[in-house]
Amino acid sequence: MRKAIVMNGKALAEKCLGETRDEIAALKIKPTLAIVLVGDDPASAIYVRNKDKKAKLVGIATKLYRLPEDTSEKKLLKLVTKLSKSRKINGVLVQLPLPDHIDTAKIIAAINPLKDVDGFTPENIGNLAIKKDCLTPCTPLGCIKLLKTVEPNLAGLKAVVIGRSQIVGRPLAQMLLNEDCTVTIAHRKTQNLPELCLTADILAVACGCPQMVRGSWLKDDAIVLDIGISYDKDRKISGDVVFDEALKKVKAITPVPGGIGPMTIAMLMANTLKAYKLQHPKKFKV
Ligand code: NAD
Repeated sequence: MRKAIVMNGKALAEKCLGETRDEIAALKIKPTLAIVLVGDDPASAIYVRNKDKKAKLVGIATKLYRLPEDTSEKKLLKLVTKLSKSRKINGVLVQLPLPDHIDTAKIIAAINPLKDVDGFTPENIGNLAIKKDCLTPCTPLGCIKLLKTVEPNLAGLKAVVIGRSQIVGRPLAQMLLNEDCTVTIAHRKTQNLPELCLTADILAVACGCPQMVRGSWLKDDAIVLDIGISYDKDRKISGDVVFDEALKKVKAITPVPGGIGPMTIAMLMANTLKAYKLQHPKKFKV
C-alpha cells in the first residue's frame, strides 16, 4: 500500500522564514511591522507574541500597540490611520477579533492597502478577485504553498473548500480558482456535504468543527488541507478532519498541529517584506 504524504508545514515554514530572513539581510533593509492588539483575549495575546518573536528572527522590527478592551472605535481608527500614513511603518496588522463595540470592517478599511499584511482590506480582496498581484491573506497563502509541494500544477483539479470566512475560506477559494481549479465553497447551509467532499481532488476544511470530516467522505488519493484548530477542555488541539481515517485514503494531508498553522505566520513575514517592496516601487520590482 502506498503511504500518504503528511505535509510538513513546520519544515516548509522554517524554509520560508529563512528565505525572508536572507532576503531582508541581503537587501540591507529593516521593514517595520505595527501590531495592534485591543483587549486581553489570551489567545490573541499568544498569537501576537508569536508574530513578534518570528518577526524579530527574520529581521523585521515590530511596534506593539496594546490598547484596553474599552478603547473607542474612534481612537482605534485614529491610530490605524496614523500608522497607515507613517513612513516609519511598513506593515499594519490589527489582531482580530476586535471587541464587539468596534466595527471591524471600518477599522480594516482604514489600513493602507500597501501595508495590509493580512490582505483583509476591500482593495486587496478586490485585487485578489481580479488576479492583480497584491497582499493576500496569510493562511490561504500558506495553504497554496504547502499544496504545491505535493501538486505543483493545480489546473483542472476539483477543489472543495469548507468554510466561507473572509480570512480563510473565501480567499482560499479565490486563490484556488486563480490556479485554475474548479472550486466549490461549502458552508453551514450546504446539503449533502459528505457526497460533495467525495468529489474533491483537493479538500480544504476551515470550519472549526473538530473531527467533522471522516475518512468515508474522502475520494481516494485526495489532497486534504486541514485548517481547523480547536481545543477541547483539556487544551488538546484538534483539526476538522479525522486524521487517522483520512491517512488511509488520501494522497497527502496536513497534520494539526504542524501543518497550516506554522505556514500562516511564515506568510505574514513574507507579506511584510512584500509590503516594504510595494512601498518602494522605484527600488523593487515585486
Ligand atoms: P469562521 O467561524 O469565521 O468560519 C467558519 C466557516 O465554516 C463558516 O463559513 C461556516 O459557514 C462554516 N461552517 C461551520 N460549521 C460548518 C459545518 N458543520 N458544515 C459546513 N460548514 C460549516 O472561522 P475561520 O476564522 O474561517 O476559521 C475556521 C477554522 O480555521 C477555525 O478552527 C480556526 O481556528 C482555524 N484557523 C486556522 C488558522 C491557521 O493558521 N491554521 C488560521 C485561521 C483560522
